[in-house]
Amino acid sequence: MTDFKVFDGHNDTLLKLEIFDCSPNSDEFLEGYSRTNIDLPRAKAAGFAGGFFAMWTPSTLEKTDFSHFNPNDPINFAEVKQEDALRFTDRLMARALRLEKASKGQVKIVTSADEIRTCAQNDQMAMLMHIEGAEAIDADFNALEVLYSAGLRSIGPVWSRNNIFAEGVPMGFPGSPDIGNGLSETGKELVSACNQLGVMLDLSHLNEKGFWDVARLSDAPLVATHSNVHEICQSPRNLTDKQLAAIAESNGVVGLNYNVGFIRPDGARNTDTALEDMVRHLSYLVEKLGENGVALGSDFDGCLLPQQIGDVNGNTRLIKSMQEAQFGETLIQKICFDNWCDLLERTLKP
Ligand code: ZN
Repeated sequence: MTDFKVFDGHNDTLLKLEIFDCSPNSDEFLEGYSRTNIDLPRAKAAGFAGGFFAMWTPSTLEKTDFSHFNPNDPINFAEVKQEDALRFTDRLMARALRLEKASKGQVKIVTSADEIRTCAQNDQMAMLMHIEGAEAIDADFNALEVLYSAGLRSIGPVWSRNNIFAEGVPMGFPGSPDIGNGLSETGKELVSACNQLGVMLDLSHLNEKGFWDVARLSDAPLVATHSNVHEICQSPRNLTDKQLAAIAESNGVVGLNYNVGFIRPDGARNTDTALEDMVRHLSYLVEKLGENGVALGSDFDGCLLPQQIGDVNGNTRLIKSMQEAQFGETLIQKICFDNWCDLLERTLKP
């Protein structure tokens, strides 16, 4: 048990439950399930109070084995049709809604910061619904309206592939995020539609021109839910100092991604990655964004984790590393929980 509750910026657990053919109510997740990084019993033991639950559509819908997902295989980056993405997003959204019902109050889909705080007090897991790569959304934003009504509160306009809204960054290492064009006209309309509804925009996976378009157009704080420091690890998925300065100026937030390839200075897919290397990114982010701008964005069930993290229990070890690096209790509390709540308070509409 840890004294700190964690509200986390990103996981792909719903995707894993779906592709591992778990029961419609996700009973495996509720009772304990070794094939995912997060399940309810482990979450409770680790103080995992919830987070952004991503709905991401694979490029190859017929492919069901994601245990060997290859970030360098072009087949995983092929563009996705809107109707296919919407159908798959419906499956994940329905899974979340059924899971909530079957949990008998132990899991709740949340749409405000207040609800997240109340869930943490009541030992409920809070799910904030997020779309990673907005292929499911049509250019008339009908799906946006319907999904909002079902609980959606956060959208990353692109995953690392192009769509009608914007262009994503590839995963190759080393690389710059400054690759490709900015937002399309429809992408610009998506920004204002999200601003109007009070849907958070997530800039992780967006290329640099798209990032600057959102920075110019959006009236909300700038957010990257699961990205790290480019100055330490030159992955195109990480944020340059200039981007961090813009996020700081907007009172935005960056969540630390646990993927070894976005942490290690050599960018290697090597799980022998030290917790200290993760803390180094956190320290740098605190220096650039201030104590209110840094949070966690694990990418559980969507990335290659350091051995010492392993699963959701790893948060307790990461917190210990923060303590050893002389992070004060107040700062740890902010990184683990408060900063996401405060950011959502500034972004979502009542
Ligand atoms: Zn991602």
